[in-house]
Amino acid sequence: MNDLAKVRGALDRIDAALLDLLAERSAVVDEVAALKSRESALSLRDLERERDLLSRIGREGQKRGLNAFHVVKIFRDVIEASVRRQESHLTREANEGDDPAVLRVAFQGVDGAYSHLAGRKFFGDRPEEPIFVGYRSFRQAVDAVERDECDYAILPLENSVAGSINETYALLGTSKLHIMGEEVWPVEHCLLGLSKVPLARLKRIYSHPQALMQCSEFLESLPGATAESFFDTAASVGRVKELGSEENAAIASAEAGELHGLVVLRRDIANQRNNQTRFVVVHRKRFRFDPRIPCRTSLLLVTDHKEGALERCLSELARASVNMTKLESRSMQNTPWEYQFYVDIEGNVDEPRVAAALEGIGRNARYLRVLGCYPRKADPSLQVPRDVDLTPAGPVAPPVSTTAPLTSESNVAYPLAARRAGDSGRTLVKVGDVVFGEGFVVVAGPCAVETESQVFETARIVREGGGRVLRGGVFKPRTSPYAFQGLGLAGLDILARAGQEYGLPIVTEVMAPEEVEKVALLADMLQIGARNMQNFALLKEVGQSKRPVLLKRGMMSSVEELLLAAEFILSAGNRHVVLCERGIRTFETSTRNTLDLGAVQVLKSRTHLPVIVDPSHAMGVAAFVAPMARAALAAGADGVIVEVHPRPAEAPGDGAHALTPDLFAAMMGDLRRVAQALGVKMW
Ligand code: PEP
Ligand code: MN
Repeated sequence: MNDLAKVRGALDRIDAALLDLLAERSAVVDEVAALKSRESALSLRDLERERDLLSRIGREGQKRGLNAFHVVKIFRDVIEASVRRQESHLTREANEGDDPAVLRVAFQGVDGAYSHLAGRKFFGDRPEEPIFVGYRSFRQAVDAVERDECDYAILPLENSVAGSINETYALLGTSKLHIMGEEVWPVEHCLLGLSKVPLARLKRIYSHPQALMQCSEFLESLPGATAESFFDTAASVGRVKELGSEENAAIASAEAGELHGLVVLRRDIANQRNNQTRFVVVHRKRFRFDPRIPCRTSLLLVTDHKEGALERCLSELARASVNMTKLESRSMQNTPWEYQFYVDIEGNVDEPRVAAALEGIGRNARYLRVLGCYPRKADPSLQVPRDVDLTPAGPVAPPVSTTAPLTSESNVAYPLAARRAGDSGRTLVKVGDVVFGEGFVVVAGPCAVETESQVFETARIVREGGGRVLRGGVFKPRTSPYAFQGLGLAGLDILARAGQEYGLPIVTEVMAPEEVEKVALLADMLQIGARNMQNFALLKEVGQSKRPVLLKRGMMSSVEELLLAAEFILSAGNRHVVLCERGIRTFETSTRNTLDLGAVQVLKSRTHLPVIVDPSHAMGVAAFVAPMARAALAAGADGVIVEVHPRPAEAPGDGAHALTPDLFAAMMGDLRRVAQALGVKMW
């Protein structure tokens, strides 16, 4: 066996496995259908869900190295097949006993005719292939069903280029058959010959006159050939086969060529592209359809020769809120200058609003015939969604810098904090049950602990909004000795109880080495404030504590100095450090400090430690906090720390940037939405 044959064998095996999986999927779809048929409250379709499913599958395909657009195309068909299968299931349930074991389907033409192809698609869900019987005319096909020679007939009703097919309407208007289904088939005329010969050698082109007409421009390009009318497109293919001369060709579907062993000389030769025909399937009995299946009802209407007669009929539709999808007037056969109307409406005749509309039209029309009610297939709004979002999975900008670490192992000043070349490892810092460094954590609470009720109230707001760590200062670093300095350890007790009550771990600032041990007894995380970033005695002290540390960047410190400050803590033995960018002093004075969001990416490239952002102290204005928290999330931060106060105006400090309960809730909603869009886990 040569190599190619071997590889092809492998492909065959994979294809067989794909088919097995599709069959398995269909069996599960049947289970879904059975559940839905028992449970009428379950909806049949959810286009939003289909759209989400497709975008997820497209992205998954992309991750596996596939072209997402091709993957989505394939799965649109898979979903469509499943929708149809469920509808067929419900329809069989609703019409039990109406389904003969062997189906005979009448159509006009011979095998390979467009009606035959559309019929095979329509009945494609049946376990066994129906027997298709070709008749010479539409009338004979209809007669065959009326005489019970066949169970169904499939007839073309309208064409997107040529319009309604009067003959079919006339037949349906006078017969007792009911439309029970529709199918759309793309008409793609092909030039078919015995073998691949140059087109200039062709002498005669056979086809149905309609098809010859639709391909007139192409035929004009073949001056050596004459057009020969034949009663059916597919039969003209048989004719060419019979005649056995390479000088003959036929115009028909590629499938008809395939059936008769002809080759395609040229595809898609019609003057107008995107030519589609809508077929209807008719049956002796009226079918019933589950109300969840979107249906169409087709009507034939004749109005009196009086002014406003048509309008009165149509206003009955509007009154009943029934949407009309087609209205066409055609002259009546055998009665010149008298018109009848072909009307399609959306809805099921079993629905009260549709029944009311029909009743109203019946009163106003000279003649009304309901040709049938059937599931809508020719309806773009019901198609499996195409507008699928295929933006690559995960954050638009990577949440973790992909920049190679800038430090090398030999000369780095902060070896413990540094990210090493080739090391993608991250330090995860656990505080209570949340982890910094994996997803996004929101820390929130008052600037300072003031009173028990203020802290408990704030803790509830934080908890309800989705914050995961409670902050609150009890030792406050204040620029003025006359400002409120915090409640000290008494405040810590309040904060700890509020945290306990609302299930939030707490973080609070330590300012002096001697406070550390006492605060560490109750606090889940120790904060080093901006003003103390280079308080080396304090850094060494928290370095000996077991508690995780939140190290804020000094407002006049560089990234390098922040990392060196972290190195003090790490080298003293405490490896649980979270860095915080909180704004720096620059020439810019329009915000309290300048929030250096770029530092997030720089830090991420240099250190394995988690990095969070404090937009509150940087911006100094409550209205700016949420947008910058969002920016921090987008910039790849591992979380934010924000100040919240139930009544900011009453706060002894930092009231200007404290979030009100409403602002906090709004910020949380926004962060959740953005995190979801970016594919970032929100704690
Ligand atoms: C604080 O978080 O309460 C605080 C004082 O912030 P910073 O140290 O960043 O000024
Ligand atoms: Mn503050």
